[in-house]
Amino acid sequence: MSDKYQGFVSSPVGKFLVKNLGLPSPTRLERWSEGAPFVDGTVLVGGTGRLVPQLLAQLKELEVTATDQDAEGATYKGLVFDATGLESPQALVALRDFFTPLMRRLTSCPRVVVLGTPPELLEGDARIAQRALEGFTRSLGKEIGRGGTAQLVYVAPGAERAADSTLSFFLSPKSAYVSGQVVRIGLGGRTSAGDVTDLRRPLEGKVALVTGASRGIGEQIARVLHRDGATVVGVDVPQAASELVTLMAELDGDHLALDITHPDAAQRIAHHLATEHGGVDVVVHNAGITRDKKLANMAEDRWDSVIAVNLTAPATITRELLAQRVINPNGRVIGVSSIAGIAGNVGQTNYAASKAGVIGWVQDLADDLTDGITVNAVAPGFIITAMTAAVPFATREVGQRLNAMSQGGLPVDVAETIAWYASPGSTAVNGNVVRVCGQMMLGA
Ligand code: NAD
Repeated sequence: MSDKYQGFVSSPVGKFLVKNLGLPSPTRLERWSEGAPFVDGTVLVGGTGRLVPQLLAQLKELEVTATDQDAEGATYKGLVFDATGLESPQALVALRDFFTPLMRRLTSCPRVVVLGTPPELLEGDARIAQRALEGFTRSLGKEIGRGGTAQLVYVAPGAERAADSTLSFFLSPKSAYVSGQVVRIGLGGRTSAGDVTDLRRPLEGKVALVTGASRGIGEQIARVLHRDGATVVGVDVPQAASELVTLMAELDGDHLALDITHPDAAQRIAHHLATEHGGVDVVVHNAGITRDKKLANMAEDRWDSVIAVNLTAPATITRELLAQRVINPNGRVIGVSSIAGIAGNVGQTNYAASKAGVIGWVQDLADDLTDGITVNAVAPGFIITAMTAAVPFATREVGQRLNAMSQGGLPVDVAETIAWYASPGSTAVNGNVVRVCGQMMLGA
């Protein structure tokens, strides 16, 4: 699936028109490939707070070259700023003092991570200053350009070492299409990270269930989890069985052809995982459908089918897997929402309700999980798949350009974000919803 506009603007005529008409000129985003370094360049660490004393050692363990000494004229691939020490609005000027001289010294597709303390754990001036970081980081994401990203990671006190998997993800090209996001780590007493023995195969020995795995985003999720070492059990409707069987054979995985909305589906999935695999470590609820119509013309079956596939089935299947203790300790449950569920969309009252419901479900379940099991969601924006290729040209162009990166994302961008949640190192990452949308201009 290609982005024709991106190809056009790199041609001589395209370059001329971009320059003279002020058209968006998307940067070709760097994406991670097996064997490549996690960060191809040096990361400069700055700031004052709880995290900075151990950051250099932490990054070294993550195979990242980092320094806290800015050499004159040096260029950087990434910047990590510990802002947990900023305790008043006046202290925020430290952000300007650190970042301003560096903004023109970043290489292509640079990464910025600002670390803070969750404001809800603080009071008074410190709370105000920590909340202010959100506006700073989201704006930086919109102006950094050249395929760069900026994120805010709120780390609860005591969870400093539990931030490793998140730092690694946000500094690497795996987070190519994720920007302007705010993540919370270590809430609800989850301060330990979980062991990652091999950074390149963090899911070795784990079993991952992926619904809707035969094509599109689900296929990429299966491929990336397999790359990270997992045995993948793919689920899809019986009509897609032949594609599903072929893909799972290629990935040395297993398959289950069933409709996730069938009354027996949860029971069958639980039985299969328990008897064939001795349980499951990662559950990705990716299967989803759209049945668009304006509300004035919304027939009942369009409403019901979308809610059933996108919202009721993930909740029912998860409930059954938890009740039967089929999800292993330190397990991961991952929902797939959509920015339509955050911003709303014409013709999608059913779809947006289902995808906002996924967020409610994640937030509700997050408080109840024990044994190191987590639940989080991704909310993709415009991802280039067969589904979006069917969208009319003009709508598709607007959808693709209306974000800080002026381009659509790829299924692998969603898959990499899911792999970060799935990592055994992400035990303290719970109840989050991260958008994979190139920082789309729509929605909060
Ligand atoms: P897709 O239509 O290409 O793939 C969805 C898969 O789910 C298909 O293989 C389909 O057969 C399967 N499926 C549908 N109903 C099922 C059922 N009842 N039981 C079992 N399997 C079922 O879609 P996609 O673009 O790859 O989207 C994957 C997920 O990402 C969906 O949840 C979608 O809502 C979400 N999403 C996609 C985009 C995008 O831009 N493509 C944006 C936001 C969210």
